[in-house]
Amino acid sequence: MDATPQRDPGRRSLSTTCCIVGGGPAGMMLGVLLGRAGVDTIVLEKHADFLRDFRGDTVHPSTMRVLHELGWLDAFLQRPHQKLVRIGGDFGGRYLHVADFSKLDVPAKFIAMMPQWDFLDFLAEQGARYPSLKLLRKTEAVDLIEDGGRVAGVVAKTAEGSLEIEADLVIGCDGRHSITRARAGLEVEDIGAPIDVLWFRIGRSKQQIEPAFLHAVAGGFLVTIDRGDYWQCAYIIGKGQTDAVKARGLDAFRAGIVAIVPALAEHIADVKSWDDVKLLTVTIDRLRHWSRPGLLCIGDAAHAMSPVGGVGINLAIADAVATANALAEKLRTRGVTAADLDAVQARRLLPVKIIQGVQVAVQNRIINPALHGQIDPPALLRLVDAVPALQRLPAMLIGLGVRAEHVRSPITTP
Ligand SMILES: Cc1cc2nc3c(=O)[nH]c(=O)nc-3n(C[C@H](O)[C@H](O)[C@H](O)COP(=O)(O)OP(=O)(O)OC[C@H]3O[C@@H](n4cnc5c(N)ncnc54)[C@H](O)[C@@H]3O)c2cc1C
Repeated sequence: MDATPQRDPGRRSLSTTCCIVGGGPAGMMLGVLLGRAGVDTIVLEKHADFLRDFRGDTVHPSTMRVLHELGWLDAFLQRPHQKLVRIGGDFGGRYLHVADFSKLDVPAKFIAMMPQWDFLDFLAEQGARYPSLKLLRKTEAVDLIEDGGRVAGVVAKTAEGSLEIEADLVIGCDGRHSITRARAGLEVEDIGAPIDVLWFRIGRSKQQIEPAFLHAVAGGFLVTIDRGDYWQCAYIIGKGQTDAVKARGLDAFRAGIVAIVPALAEHIADVKSWDDVKLLTVTIDRLRHWSRPGLLCIGDAAHAMSPVGGVGINLAIADAVATANALAEKLRTRGVTAADLDAVQARRLLPVKIIQGVQVAVQNRIINPALHGQIDPPALLRLVDAVPALQRLPAMLIGLGVRAEHVRSPITTP
């Protein structure tokens, strides 16, 4: 599947049916599905590999159901991962059960915590069996080719110089800083996120800390994710507060973490310098219109997600499945219309709006108040805790999303 653009002393160019910009979860899954359907497809990924800073390591039941439908779930679960079966929260000393994935009727009743590069490598391996799919690494889209008001391809930067890729359809899967959506002039609606996240890891001794996942205290909010031999920690701060946090010093930062979860004290010295703490700015936005003639955006390029619920990867995968379902056959017969592109947005907009709405509500009703000293979990959360059967509902929302996408795109034998 990997392909190196051919060296050409003159202008280098390629032509394909579908050019996907970005080899993240949306782009890789879409590429694999289109390759599987026999559509001539090129995926451009600006990095040399999938190894990079933390980008979300949660593979949810909905995504594993897709892998199951493709016959790949067992192979996927051979890769090292941790299983997250339940989510709970410590709200000022009061433990609340939030979600129980074991109650879902799906092939994998848990969230698989797996480094995203392993997941993307897995998809790349599956894609390698389809000759019509090519993955060009170290190839960065820098511009769109326009032809009479229609997007007709992509200009990319490579180590060998500039490369033009002509395509019937360009699909922007290049994340929340998408160059495709910017160059296409698609209008972005900023939904707003009052928080940022500082990520770090702290070693884990055999002694368990309390099984909470969310920890809210007056003035602080921490998420701890069990990664086997360490805790992956997300410390939520007010938007733009990183410099203020750093100005208070590393000792104060460590003390603040231990004040939220005292059991982390034993290994808090693992945070040795600010280099061990990564800022990820949180954005929630969406495009008013996801397409133009010749171009469609999906995944974070169409709707940047907050880390709340860890659902961004899974929405990106659902978008990819829906896009392949709607377009694979039409791409193969080269008959994609503007209405077909609109239909993808029409199908995916409602789930995106609902999940973004829930993320905003959690930010505004739970996280932000905790950061400002108020810990009073909403009545709904207390009800879910009190009635275990109700813990299936948040598990469905987080684990399966709002509109199920099943693989219906065709398969052609390579
Ligand atoms: C702080 C934070 C934590 C998060 N945690 C989680 C989590 O735990 N679980 C979860 O599900 N979601 C999480 N998310 C959201 C999640 O990261 C995204 O929703 C998801 O990765 C979107 O997938 P995507 O394929 O659309 O875009 P991305 O994952 O952003 O992938 C885009 C790809 O395009 C490539 N690219 C970009 N520009 C170009 C270009 N010009 N040319 C070629 N290639 C390009 C990039 O290198 C990248 O590989 C988090 C987000 C944030 C901000």
